[in-house]
Amino acid sequence: MMKKIAYIESIAKSTTRIRRVHSIRLRKLGPYVVEDMHVEVDGKMTVNEAHKITEQIEEKVKQEFDKVAEIKVRIEPEKTQQN
Ligand SMILES: [Zn+2]
Repeated sequence: MMKKIAYIESIAKSTTRIRRVHSIRLRKLGPYVVEDMHVEVDGKMTVNEAHKITEQIEEKVKQEFDKVAEIKVRIEPEKTQQN
């Protein structure tokens, strides 16, 4: 499970314009796996761009893990050092 999380993190990070990834979780749902994650992007990114990125991550993760049935990606504005 830990290996998978690290791999999913690297998949997400390889996606353009993703600044940081955190809170990756995998949960079993019967024979399937549900995955959720938070990704930080430029806060000024448009909803259209953010949505496109979300779809790219979902596609890539599903390609790598056929047991992942559902992926939830939460988009967050990039956090600065202050917070
Ligand atoms: Zn978060």
